[in-house]
Amino acid sequence: MILYICDQCMTAVRCLEVPGDVRQQDLPRAENDACAGCFGPVQIVPERLLDPAVAAALKIRDLTFEELYYWAATGALPEDRKTTPDDVRLLLVGKKVVSVDIDERASADRAVINCLVLDDGSRIYLGASPMGAIVYRVAKRTSEG
Ligand SMILES: [Zn+2]
Repeated sequence: MILYICDQCMTAVRCLEVPGDVRQQDLPRAENDACAGCFGPVQIVPERLLDPAVAAALKIRDLTFEELYYWAATGALPEDRKTTPDDVRLLLVGKKVVSVDIDERASADRAVINCLVLDDGSRIYLGASPMGAIVYRVAKRTSEG
């Protein structure tokens, strides 16, 4: 089995059902803020090469193969995809924005917001849609890294 490990908070994502025709080098690389525990970076490590003491200390999150690919591409765990109007209202109302991830390369004249970080640690990820900004991912992690 393959693990995606964050050595900052010892959280790992594991896929238990990698199809036999998928080689390790074909597995997706994860986004820089993908850690399921703290938004930190993760490294791919074959489970058989792990030191037993490290393996025992890991908080492992199991994902299906499909969930693994989606998570690697977007950093979103299955529960992060709940972005209904009610989900977003619950996350945003009464919270303070403590940080804004702005894509500085996108435009010098207009702010292109990728993500809002709230005072409770939640992150609201925004994308473009014909109707305006769309929330495509919300995330809250248990420990900030
Ligand atoms: Zn982490």
